[in-house]
Amino acid sequence: MTAEPSSLTALVRRARRINRELALLYPDAHTELNFSTPLELLVATILSAQTTDKRVNLVTPTLFARYPTAADYAAADRDELEKIITSTGFYHAKANSLIGLGQALCDRFGGEVPPRLRDLVTLPGVGRKTANVVLGNAFGIPGITVDTHFGRLARRFGWTTSTDPVKIEAEVGALFPRRDWTMLSHRLIWHGRRVCHARRPACGACALTRLCPSFGEGPTDPVIAAKLVKPGPFS
Ligand code: SF4
Repeated sequence: MTAEPSSLTALVRRARRINRELALLYPDAHTELNFSTPLELLVATILSAQTTDKRVNLVTPTLFARYPTAADYAAADRDELEKIITSTGFYHAKANSLIGLGQALCDRFGGEVPPRLRDLVTLPGVGRKTANVVLGNAFGIPGITVDTHFGRLARRFGWTTSTDPVKIEAEVGALFPRRDWTMLSHRLIWHGRRVCHARRPACGACALTRLCPSFGEGPTDPVIAAKLVKPGPFS
């Protein structure tokens, strides 16, 4: 980001106001994947690639009951595992990731999910986005989750011009205190799913009309915009 100091101050101020508005709008924003342990969240996040959280949540009760530990994934029968996760799509690749994940956790981390970014990203099927989801939500370590919604909204808010997730993470992270990163991620994702869609954002029904520099990218008529809002839940 190349903003001058004064415009940077204005950018930070507006960014934090947007975050506060979103906090009022979505007081209980959270990951829409169901989980109860770091391993379950890691597995659910891997499965969520190219599909919806809702679809993942339909298969994980069976999956988590059948494979409660990393060693269970390491020793999984591929056909059986693929059958359970088929409906999430890309099930060959996802089964590879889950079996490899189980093996890597057993070989290098004593069967436990490591609570560090630099360890998590060495695991099969785990990129920065997945690692930050797990850090933020299973370990309480602040992380920015740059998914498609987060990236799009960050650009619409003028927080970045980049489409590179690593750059977006760094540029947005610089605008907020670390302690805000995880909840900020949830709020942007929730707003992206419900109101600020990729095609036809519901600008006329958006709580951020006065703060968002991209107001007008979608219909501004309140009645038309209200019809575009998707109320959720998405899980
Ligand atoms: S005003 Fe429009 S572009 Fe801006 S956040 Fe709201 S829906 Fe998205």
